[in-house]
Amino acid sequence: TDPAMIRNFCIIAHIDHGKSTLADRMLEVTGVVEKRQMRAQYLDRMDIERERGITIKSQNVRLPWAGVDKRGYTLHMIDTPGHVDFTYEVSRSLAACEGAVLLVDAAQGIEAQTLANLYLAMENDLTVIPVLNKIDLPAAQPERYAAEIAHILGCDPDSILRVSGKTGEGVEELLDQIVADIPAPVGDADAPARAMIFDSIYDIYRGVITYVRVVDGRISSRERIKMMSNGTTHELLELGVISPDPTPVMSLGVGEVGYLITGVKDVRQSRVGDTVTLLNRPAATPIGGYRDPKPMVYSGLYPVDGSEYPLLRDALDKLQLNDAALMWEPETSTALGFGFRCGFLGLLHMEIVRERLEREFDLTLISTAPNVVYRVVTDDGSELHVTNPSDWPEGKIAEVHEPVVKCTIIAPTEFTGAIMELCQSRRGNLQGMDYLSETRVELRYMMPLGEIIFDFFDSLKSRTRGYASLDYEEAGEQLSDLVKIDILLQGETVDAFSAIAHKDKAYAYGVRMTAKLRELIPRQQFEVPIQAAIGSRIIARETIRAIRKDVLAKCYGGDITRKRKLLEKQKEGKKKMKMVGRVEVPQDAFIAALSTD
Ligand code: GDP
Ligand code: MG
Repeated sequence: TDPAMIRNFCIIAHIDHGKSTLADRMLEVTGVVEKRQMRAQYLDRMDIERERGITIKSQNVRLPWAGVDKRGYTLHMIDTPGHVDFTYEVSRSLAACEGAVLLVDAAQGIEAQTLANLYLAMENDLTVIPVLNKIDLPAAQPERYAAEIAHILGCDPDSILRVSGKTGEGVEELLDQIVADIPAPVGDADAPARAMIFDSIYDIYRGVITYVRVVDGRISSRERIKMMSNGTTHELLELGVISPDPTPVMSLGVGEVGYLITGVKDVRQSRVGDTVTLLNRPAATPIGGYRDPKPMVYSGLYPVDGSEYPLLRDALDKLQLNDAALMWEPETSTALGFGFRCGFLGLLHMEIVRERLEREFDLTLISTAPNVVYRVVTDDGSELHVTNPSDWPEGKIAEVHEPVVKCTIIAPTEFTGAIMELCQSRRGNLQGMDYLSETRVELRYMMPLGEIIFDFFDSLKSRTRGYASLDYEEAGEQLSDLVKIDILLQGETVDAFSAIAHKDKAYAYGVRMTAKLRELIPRQQFEVPIQAAIGSRIIARETIRAIRKDVLAKCYGGDITRKRKLLEKQKEGKKKMKMVGRVEVPQDAFIAALSTD
């Protein structure tokens, strides 16, 4: 295909603003999917995505479109993942495009994710086409929100397209505008081939399917390709385009988007952001922007039933084939037995992994409280990255650095006070505030990532009656006064409850956990102190009183058989107990204490 006839674009939108529905309509209007074959959200293939209505893995598709001049164009629509955890994947998808359709729900207006994605698009120098969607809704206020968009983009509000992904109104005009406004790709057709990987998925039948955008040169089928990040080479078994089903082609040239199959079985061998070149005539330098996936959030995953441990290991092995960002290693816990320490891109990623393990592999799991990665410098000058509270150094600590993120929150102005209060309680630092209109405000905060991964989003939603939207991006790290808090049962540390927290919050955590455990752990034959400690300093204490006296007291002294029966009953109840020192604790109590309410 002549690059002048190609247009590569993505749709960026806040969740639920109608990206998938609009994509469906584009498939239909361009004739790629016949109307009678159409089912809602054709491109969202994973079950969890369909149920949650979010796009986890991107899908891309080639669309033929005549254009106003009837010359016949080739459009490539690249469907970006829609969540902050996957910012790097989003940025690679955007880098594969020259333009972006900025889709805004005409009944909602701009939300946090709209802005975050818009900024990413601008960083990638994309041409942005703003579009108001859902104009068929009675509640739509296109004039009002056109003004909001125009204010941010500095464009004429009347130039903003109005469409309905549901009825199809305005979709043809949008496709025409994509052809007219978005620049054709440019590249050097004679140079050694370079293609950027913007997505890679595992397919049980075909192995890894890698999506690429060709930047320079030409890739032809049956050539041997080379991954520039690590120099590995692979046979090219198939090259093709998606329209909407995979269709093999002989070659892909400048500006074209397609897929390649090499027979590799693990997405780690075909990483997002990497550059593909040809072994025979390799390019000298890769396309910029590659980076290894970096877990931001860690948590322990344990089978509730210990005998499921081998199954869990197997399941993680399989899941890793299609999730290059998932990291794990074995871990043992006194409270929970054998399990794994897992690293995730963020909270949603963590939830998705856990849900897939439970659903696709039929496991019942418990996870420990998530934590971020801390950089700890000890007094002797050594430095370590702590991903697990149990690795916190014992000796003197000189400095602790924690990751911070830049948050964007958009909400009706009446909630400004409540949001500020919440952010301050989470150690947030106000960076700026803008009014999108008289009634809606954008707040920008710098905040520790560790504060966001504990129900921040839920708190924000409940304080704003669901009206606030949130997005955040990595913003380096900061020095912080952080400490490790241990929870002790009769002087023994219970590893699963150790946590890293800010000095000012350690006390509250200690009080909360000791109280919770006192409720959950049954009485023993002796008194059991539950303590929270920072190092050797006790900061909170509860006591479980001894039970023996009470049990025997009920026996009115005399009847010895009755006494024995009671004691035996007590013994029976101790099955499925874990020993922490001399203390017997039902596993259920640990699980209940760990699950957040
Ligand atoms: P996404 O999260 O951006 O992919 O949004 P979806 O395409 O999944 O749409 C979210 C919800 O909005 C769904 O219930 C859609 O049926 C609905 N929706 C999408 N587009 C329109 C539209 O143009 N008009 C109306 N009335 N509803 C729409
Ligand atoms: Mg969607």
